Amino acid sequence: MWLLKNPFSKNKNAEDPSSAPKKTTKAKPYEHYRSIAEFPDEIVYKKRKPKVMAIIDEDSCTGCQVCVPFCPVDCIESVPHEKYNIVIPPVQVRYNECIGCSICARVCTKLTWDAIRMVPLEEFEEGFPEVEITNTFTPEVQEAAD
Ligand code: SF4
Ligand code: SF4
Repeated sequence: MWLLKNPFSKNKNAEDPSSAPKKTTKAKPYEHYRSIAEFPDEIVYKKRKPKVMAIIDEDSCTGCQVCVPFCPVDCIESVPHEKYNIVIPPVQVRYNECIGCSICARVCTKLTWDAIRMVPLEEFEEGFPEVEITNTFTPEVQEAAD
């Protein structure tokens, strides 16, 4: 096939595309776990209302509890056994303690299932009018029983 030769080409063999120097690009390795936080060093508590709220789909949750130690405010717990009467119940969020960090949702999606949705707080409050979300949350200090 006849090809026009580019007079400005630095490649002396421009008429033969296969002889052009090949560009080498290094593919970055895909880091599957990049968006997953480390375990929290210490438990913190809510200082302001969150913008989003974690809602666990109890029908999808396997109850594996992988998300539990990642929560920086430690507000994920098992649903009481009586609710479903199954060996491994799903988990639930104590909503008023959630700070909306989304860590649990990323952990669940990346490491296990995909059972957590982050929803805007206004949407949450419309759907769960019986749940009061306060501006702050600090647990009451439990006095040791004598
Ligand atoms: S990681 Fe996902 S599936 Fe496992 S307990 Fe948490 S919400 Fe449920
Ligand atoms: S969004 Fe953050 S604070 Fe709320 S339950 Fe998930 S990990 Fe805990």
